[in-house]
Amino acid sequence: MTWVVTRLCRDNVDTACVAECPVDCFYIPKDTGQHTNQLYISPSECIDCGACEPACPWEAIFKDDSVPAAFGEDVALNAVCDSDRADFETAVENPDTPKPTPEQVTANKAKWGG
Ligand code: SF4
Ligand code: SF4
Repeated sequence: MTWVVTRLCRDNVDTACVAECPVDCFYIPKDTGQHTNQLYISPSECIDCGACEPACPWEAIFKDDSVPAAFGEDVALNAVCDSDRADFETAVENPDTPKPTPEQVTANKAKWGG
């Protein structure tokens, strides 16, 4: 079992989740022109602790068997950080990133059909 970052993270990438992960298995693309600009969870490294999910202000993180249908393709997307690891680096928390308002969270979900 692994957890998955869905498209609700895209272009937000506030990194609030990163500090919660005990095994540092969040990854970010080195070149967002090459890969989608969001965080990725390595399915081979995630230990299924669930600590990151409540820390995500955009409510973008789901267990792989509970990902909403509208975000189903994001399960395979996360695995790209394992298969193309040379294109990724370990994500680092940036505590200065602004957090969204409840209205922004709702609007982001609507934008992506979630
Ligand atoms: S579930 Fe735990 S191990 Fe997996 S990404 Fe979240 S914090 Fe890291
Ligand atoms: S906290 Fe959520 S939205 Fe922010 S970077 Fe992590 S997964 Fe993406």
